[in-house]
Amino acid sequence: MFDESLITESRLSSAKKKELTPLRFYPDDQNALFGGSTGSMYFTTLDECQCADFAINGRIQPCKHMIRLAMECGVIDRSGMETDKTAATVKYQLARMKQYIREEPIAKVALFVRPLQSIALEGSYPVSEHRFDEAIDADGVSNSPIFKRKKDGDLSIDKKYKKDIDNVLDVARNRFGDEALARIDDDDLIELLGRNLDLG
Ligand SMILES: [Zn+2]
Repeated sequence: MFDESLITESRLSSAKKKELTPLRFYPDDQNALFGGSTGSMYFTTLDECQCADFAINGRIQPCKHMIRLAMECGVIDRSGMETDKTAATVKYQLARMKQYIREEPIAKVALFVRPLQSIALEGSYPVSEHRFDEAIDADGVSNSPIFKRKKDGDLSIDKKYKKDIDNVLDVARNRFGDEALARIDDDDLIELLGRNLDLG
């Protein structure tokens, strides 16, 4: 059971931050889903959490997610707790996009980066949602605060996240290199990258 005496000061202060608003919260079952800074999503109960901190500390001290969940459930005092679902969602989705670019097969990543770069450079792109949904797998593009769908159906970026998307594209630059990133909308390049890959 949740042991309040094992809460550390630094974890408590992290738990109160708005970025730690749960992405999903199920009060009846006293569990929640939190976005991690590496792009993973953690399932958290008052007894355990999937995050690295909880594993590293020997599954004894509650991590910041468990502490936050205890606040959300009213199990411990929640004074000073900040709530901002949009901030938490955006933080998770940006981390998830970076994880996707770093870890998925390169041809798949190219097909995600192509529209992303075009949106960043030219303002919009006529794009189907599925690959974006896969990369920001919380709620998908239509519910993401980062992207907006224009009247003509094209996707654009909410201006206030322009810089964040540039940071995501820096991760793509690291993976592809300047030259390949500049040619990312070249169909021959994508075909070359995807030659041995079933893109489904
Ligand atoms: Zn945790």
